[in-house]
Amino acid sequence: MTSLARERRKRLRLRKDNRSKKLFSRARKYFVGGVNSPVRSFKGVGKEYPLFISKTKGSIIRDEDGNEYLDYVCSWGASILGSAYPLVEKAVVEAAKRGLSFGAATDRESDLAERIQKSMPSIELMRLVSSGTEATMSAIRLARAFTKKDKIIKFEGCYHGHSDSFLVRAGSGLATFSMPDSAGVPDSIASNTLVARFNDLDSVSKIALQNKYHVACIIVEPVAGNMGVIPPEVGFLEGLRQLCNENEILLIFDEVITGFRVARGGAQSLYNVTPDLTCLGKVIGGGMNIAAYGGRKDIMQLVSPLGPVYQAGTLSGNPIAVAAGIATLDALKRSVYSKLETNSQRLASGISNSADKSEINVKVQRVGSMLGLFFYSNEKFKGTAIKNYDDIKNKCSKDGYSRFFNEMLNEGIYLPPSAFETIFVSAAHSTSDISKTIKASQVSFEKMKGNTK
Ligand SMILES: *Cc1c(COP(=O)(O)O)cnc(C)c1O
Repeated sequence: MTSLARERRKRLRLRKDNRSKKLFSRARKYFVGGVNSPVRSFKGVGKEYPLFISKTKGSIIRDEDGNEYLDYVCSWGASILGSAYPLVEKAVVEAAKRGLSFGAATDRESDLAERIQKSMPSIELMRLVSSGTEATMSAIRLARAFTKKDKIIKFEGCYHGHSDSFLVRAGSGLATFSMPDSAGVPDSIASNTLVARFNDLDSVSKIALQNKYHVACIIVEPVAGNMGVIPPEVGFLEGLRQLCNENEILLIFDEVITGFRVARGGAQSLYNVTPDLTCLGKVIGGGMNIAAYGGRKDIMQLVSPLGPVYQAGTLSGNPIAVAAGIATLDALKRSVYSKLETNSQRLASGISNSADKSEINVKVQRVGSMLGLFFYSNEKFKGTAIKNYDDIKNKCSKDGYSRFFNEMLNEGIYLPPSAFETIFVSAAHSTSDISKTIKASQVSFEKMKGNTK
């Protein structure tokens, strides 16, 4: 670094302290905790105030002081092409000129749906909604109506948005803040949510058996992405499929993260297991607010106006979001997935090697461009796989991640500001971005080593 650059960086650092703090105290006057989604507060990584973001472009995220970081949050996975991808930006601008919202049917919605269905043939009919929360909430309502049963089975540490039925031992921000359940969810609702252990078919069968004739659906993140990254073990998803078939239970894949991420056809194509219903979000809007649920025609036909299950939305199928979705899916060519795979593989092994060199006990788990870092709380767990939320509770340390996050931030790398979230690689990350990140991880682990308690 030239002395001028060093000088400039120093100045930026100084300004950063003043500005983000100031912006945060302003935001706290208006927003609960100064933010509009809890993890954004950086509380989970021991910060007094979060970064305030002014701009993102490609793989770069810039804060209000002009500090630039390599972005591995990618709007929580939505920006798979990187931010402001030119063709997506163009599509959005063009759509905006024709009107921001119609609240009426458009042909472009069918263009998006056609692409989704082509990649995920299990989605025979679908509904566009505005958030993943809406998609999962509507999917279980539908499952209950179709099966005429009330209970649902979910997995501990899986996150399906913030509707009442799912705020029972959920992942994401709830995992970081150690909130097993949310206040304000009536027992009468929570008692209909049964919680099983991920990657443990016996735990599911047992619950299904104990509640025979009462379980409407099993909902699962086929690759868990809200308790770090946990792949399904061989036979797990197949086992769920079989259990559902045998007990007239619907299988719902929450592919809000994995859809068009782990493969174009989502986890259902990667693992070759077909759900009855699928929930999508994040990638299908390429950074705009759109989500979807859909699946078997005989089930979907129960949704209003064809059937008795009510579900609606003022901004559903918003034309700007639809335009962003179409442009994103069109840009997701085979070559994009192979680039994502190559870079992600390199990043995962690079971070893992850096940790080994510094003798920091970290496990990197990866499926495609989703990476999870697990810091073991004890040497004796070293190398063992993290298979479910019990493993996280028993074997992992949040503090390790928190320190790593802060060191990486100092090195210009922006990781998720929360221990058990997914690190996302985008197609905008270049080979040199990956090298830079691996180098930063070396520096960070070395600092942690010199600094261990
Ligand atoms: C993000 C997420 C949701 C919720 O989506 P929102 O758009 O934030 O409401 C649901 N399920 C999974 C698996 C998610 O990762």
